[in-house]
Amino acid sequence: MTYIPTRMCVGCRKRFHQDQLLRIVKDNGKAKLVDSHTQGRSIYLCRKRECILSCKKSHAIERGLKVTLDEEFFRELEDKCDE
Ligand SMILES: [Zn+2]
Repeated sequence: MTYIPTRMCVGCRKRFHQDQLLRIVKDNGKAKLVDSHTQGRSIYLCRKRECILSCKKSHAIERGLKVTLDEEFFRELEDKCDE
């Protein structure tokens, strides 16, 4: 069996294959959505609207990356979600 790395969604705290998740890193003091090949500390989110909304409420991304997020960033996340 091939080893596939899994990461935890900060919204629902379930584990997913890395390529199913949205990845957010801190770049120049701001949160940025990236592909899976970028280095550095990151936060992962599965593509469910409820997880994005739950992060917005709990500030899990802000706390994890020590950044401030604006409405525009959450809209960008919601654009990428499946449901
Ligand atoms: Zn999730």
